[in-house]
Amino acid sequence: MKVSELPYRRVTREEMTEGLQRVIGRVKAAQSVEEILAARAEYLSLTTEYATAQSLSYMRYTINTVDPFYLAEKDYYDEIGPEVENLALQYTSAVLDSPFRKELETVLSPILLRSMELQRRSMSPEIIDDMVEENKLVSEYAQLMAGMLFPFRGEQLPRPMLMKYARSADRATRRACYEALGTTLEAHSAQLDDLFDRLVHVRDRMAKKMGYENFIELGYCRMERMCYDAQAVQTFRENIVRDIVPVVSRLRLENAKRLGIDTFRLYDNEFFTPGGDPTPCGKDDLFAAAQKMYDAMGDVPGAFFRMMCENEAFDVESRPNKWGGGYCTEFPKFRQPFILANFNGTSGDVDVVTHEAGHALNAYLIADNRFALELGCGGMETAETHSMSMEFFAWPYLDAFFPKAGDAERYRFQHALDALSFLPYGTMVDEFQHRVYAEPGLTPAERNAVWLELEHKYRPWIDFDALPFYGRGAGWQRQLHIYECPFYYIDYCLSTMAALQFFLLSLKDHKDAWERYLKLVRRAGLASYTELMQTAGLKVPFEDGSIKAIAQQMGQWIAEHQV
Ligand code: ZN
Repeated sequence: MKVSELPYRRVTREEMTEGLQRVIGRVKAAQSVEEILAARAEYLSLTTEYATAQSLSYMRYTINTVDPFYLAEKDYYDEIGPEVENLALQYTSAVLDSPFRKELETVLSPILLRSMELQRRSMSPEIIDDMVEENKLVSEYAQLMAGMLFPFRGEQLPRPMLMKYARSADRATRRACYEALGTTLEAHSAQLDDLFDRLVHVRDRMAKKMGYENFIELGYCRMERMCYDAQAVQTFRENIVRDIVPVVSRLRLENAKRLGIDTFRLYDNEFFTPGGDPTPCGKDDLFAAAQKMYDAMGDVPGAFFRMMCENEAFDVESRPNKWGGGYCTEFPKFRQPFILANFNGTSGDVDVVTHEAGHALNAYLIADNRFALELGCGGMETAETHSMSMEFFAWPYLDAFFPKAGDAERYRFQHALDALSFLPYGTMVDEFQHRVYAEPGLTPAERNAVWLELEHKYRPWIDFDALPFYGRGAGWQRQLHIYECPFYYIDYCLSTMAALQFFLLSLKDHKDAWERYLKLVRRAGLASYTELMQTAGLKVPFEDGSIKAIAQQMGQWIAEHQV
């Protein structure tokens, strides 16, 4: 069925309350493991309905953020969400406290019970009002950013359309693009500061009510970090600073010199090759090329992509009032993944049929996994491993995406250097969040000062050249994740580490690397990130010195493939 025709029905507060209370009662009264499993089946059917209604209405809101019907539906779930979560938590607690817990670990999965333990530690009835407030603030921020228009050369552009010019081969155009971006954001700076300040305080308050020292620990529980803690992440960031930052710094400065850039400015950061961004073919050709690629990868990926196209499970045109980012979601009841993106004619469009489709392929492959609803694929770092690695597995097929002679080579060079350059940025975002939540009393100006300090540490090759907004360290405010989902960003770095390793393996033996990847994808939800990395024979980046060799090999490949 076409995604636009999927029936939507509001799942009400009353329905969920009544249903979940019945399930909780059944778990508590259970006299055997079988009775708990039967209660779980009822829990799963309730949550399938709820998750489907919620993601359908959210999707329909994001494709038109001013649609009054779906805006109201989204607000409704924002409103009842914490209450439903609280009941789900009582279910979780009842299962965890059950006298049959040991047996449950065997018949279900130890990973599931571990994840339930983390859910229990991330929620408490006394923070429900705070959670409602947090949801509202996040929505306000999303609304503000989606509605923002940027005056650029006589036009009013939504952000994804403006950012196309950040990749222009003409330096004055890139500079003008960042000036337009900075000036408009600057005009909203009081509101952006105020929203973030309130978010930090409400998050800190929740953490303290639950007995944590600050929000960091609560943030980790919320992200359901199963196999690493803040200490491990710190070691990873130190590895990046020591082993990746110097390599990227050297490569970016050498590359800039080749491109005739004297002082490397922020607006040069998305410019990699002499002709600027390689131009992908138009939407129809792009989807046709993607279909061929997935067919060549195997019967299952081929059938998957055909189903996505037939069901019109992509919304890729950029329009005013459409949500500005990109995502992949799914409607569990209909076993249907869905992808939203904003095409802008840059090479970023290709990511939609590689990166986002990598997420969707995983959802498709694990739809029958019996923990899929409760665990998804097991964590955001795992999810991003699926998508970012797919970007690299697409390399042999790139000529069809970039019809102009030489563009596919230029894309490969750009993609490799871009992925490596992302690691310092991503870890900087992560350290920034640790600093902000460790010191919730920082003023907006102090937060900006922290950001600027981190810019020098992680991206020493960039000069900020008194750009509006960016020059005073406010650049982090356009990073949606920092507002919307704290501590969700290091995930992209952890998954980049997996993707780069798959890439390096694929240079030696593409088929072997692809098989390792599929093995990892199919095990999603059944093992933690570190176990999955080991499944595919990849290095786990939390160990001291574990990424040095990867940095060297990537640096060498990039230096040898300049175009
Ligand atoms: Zn992704």
